[in-house]
Amino acid sequence: MHIVVTNDDGVVAPGLLALAQIMRELGTVSILAPDRNWSASGHVRTLDRPLRVREVTLGDNTPAWACDGAPSDCVALALCGFFSEPVDLVVSGINPYANIGDDVTYSGTVTAAMEAVIGGLPALAVSVDSPDNHLGMVDYQAAATYALKITATMLRQGMPKGLLLNINVPYLPLEKIKGIRVTRQGSREYHDRLDKRVDPRGKPYYWAIGDLPTAQAEPGNDAEALQNQYVSVTPIQMDLTAYRFLPEMNSWIWE
Ligand code: MN
Repeated sequence: MHIVVTNDDGVVAPGLLALAQIMRELGTVSILAPDRNWSASGHVRTLDRPLRVREVTLGDNTPAWACDGAPSDCVALALCGFFSEPVDLVVSGINPYANIGDDVTYSGTVTAAMEAVIGGLPALAVSVDSPDNHLGMVDYQAAATYALKITATMLRQGMPKGLLLNINVPYLPLEKIKGIRVTRQGSREYHDRLDKRVDPRGKPYYWAIGDLPTAQAEPGNDAEALQNQYVSVTPIQMDLTAYRFLPEMNSWIWE
C-alpha cells in the first residue's frame, strides 16, 4: 500500500507530520505537499506555469517533497506518476481547524482529497476542531489515532469510486472522544463584511472577511457530531447534481 500524504497548511505544518507518521502503520508513505500555506484556496490546478518540487526533510528526519503549487496540484502530480511506485491512497491533513458544512469547497485539505477521487483513488481529508483562541502547539495525537482507525476501516470495507471521506475530530484528549458518527454535510454561516480601506497612495483596498464562521448543529450533521464530542465522518461525492430538484426542473417550460 503506497499512501501519499498532503495538506494545505504547507509541508512544515506539524499536522502533516503527525498524519504521515501514523499512516506508516498501513503502508509506505510518501509526502508531497505545498511549500506554503494554501488554506481556503479551493480546488486549484496550475496550468499556466510549471510546478517546481524540491526535496526537504521534516522534523523527525522524514524526507518529503515540497511543491510550489496548490494541494490539488500536489495530488495531480502524484497521480500523474511523480513517484516511481503507483499510488493507492491519498490522505490530506491534519488541518488544525474543522472543515465542515460549506467549508468543503474552500478547503485545500478537502479539495486535495477531491483531486484524488477524480483520479480514481480512495481519499480522506482529516481536520481537527481546535479552537481559534488555542495557545501554543495544536495536539494532533487524537486526530491522528482516529485518522488511522477510519482509514483502516475504509480500506477494509471498500469505497465506491468518486467518494471521499471528510473527517473532523473534536479537539479533545483521546479518552474524552465518545466515538465515530457518520454524518451529513451541514452548512456554515459566514459573517463576512466589506471593509474598505485606503492605502498610503490614496488607492482603496478591501477586506471581505469578518468574524469566524459559525455552524448550525442539526440532527445527523457534522457540526452536531463535533458538538457532542464525536468524530464526524462524512462521505462526500463529486457529483453535485441536485437530484431532488430534477423532477421540478423538468416540469419547467423554457421560453
Ligand atoms: Mn489549512
